[in-house]
Amino acid sequence: MIGGFQICKIAGIPIRINISLILLIGLFFFLSAREDGLYAGLTTAVVFVAVFVCIAIHELAHSLVTMAFGIKVRGITLWLLGGVAQLDRLPDKPYQELLIAIVGPPVNFAICGIIMIGQWAGSAFSRGNFLQSLDNPLTMIAMINLTIGVFNSIPAFPMDGGRVLRAIIWWSTDFLRATRLTNTISRVLLVLLGILGIFVLKSWMAVLVVIFLWMAGGAEVRAAEAKAALERIPVTQAMFTGCPVLSPYDPLRLGQQYFGSGTWCDLPVIYDGRLVGMLRRQDALRADLQLQPDRPTYETMDREFVTIDGTQTLATVAERFQRDRLRDSPVILDNRLVGVISPDSINAYLSQLTGHH
Ligand SMILES: [Zn+2]
Repeated sequence: MIGGFQICKIAGIPIRINISLILLIGLFFFLSAREDGLYAGLTTAVVFVAVFVCIAIHELAHSLVTMAFGIKVRGITLWLLGGVAQLDRLPDKPYQELLIAIVGPPVNFAICGIIMIGQWAGSAFSRGNFLQSLDNPLTMIAMINLTIGVFNSIPAFPMDGGRVLRAIIWWSTDFLRATRLTNTISRVLLVLLGILGIFVLKSWMAVLVVIFLWMAGGAEVRAAEAKAALERIPVTQAMFTGCPVLSPYDPLRLGQQYFGSGTWCDLPVIYDGRLVGMLRRQDALRADLQLQPDRPTYETMDREFVTIDGTQTLATVAERFQRDRLRDSPVILDNRLVGVISPDSINAYLSQLTGHH
């Protein structure tokens, strides 16, 4: 994940800038100013900033559609190679992914069109020659937007065109197969583009771009594989088992002792065979309550807890924890309390699954 510091917030979405982008703009300012003077350097920097504003608008378009489907957008980060909108989770349905992806390129085509129409109108008004205006900064911004729009329409990962292609394939198969097939098609296209870049454009940069895109496609496949794995695993695999259980009339001291001796989940409170509450770690260890350990547990327990059905998959539950910011929740299977699932237990399970620590 690419980090960055926040510069503003639009529609509730934090917009961040990665340091690589600032260095890039600084470098181009320096090179251009040294070659052609301060004015040229400043012009280059302004064009760069304007292009990244356009990229931010492009990412905002993706984000607004994403949010319309109830998926949270954690932020938009602008970096060296463009923009990334960080979504809380992948879309559930092919049509959602299709609509999220497809709105990207038209944004850049529209910006290009507006600038060109403005310049054409301006040159007609001042009786100037339209073609003479082609080397000015606005025209450069228009042309870069056109290039971004065209490049993003290529049906290969990680471009918008690749996501559109996956969405269309996904309609007739599952997400993982669609992702793998899209990645295969992407890589064939990338090799062709690389060959074109070397032999026609005579650019070795093309090879670097192809390598980068190749790796980004691999990341798409790994994300799809992780999602598919979670869809096969029952939630009961990732829960804490053997959590101590309390009665509502137990003194708070008992729960405090459990938490003090390394119990890492909130404690279920059971009365007459029924789950009546959850004693939250942070409530039980509150400073004022530490001084009153003889109070009964029912005064402090959380009665508004959510129960998790033990037949659900880890994918469904992990998504719900993220979406609803759930706290530790009891897992019920066949009307019986079988464990407690929490963000900690899910993360611990996932990290052991993927080998990242
Ligand atoms: Zn896009």
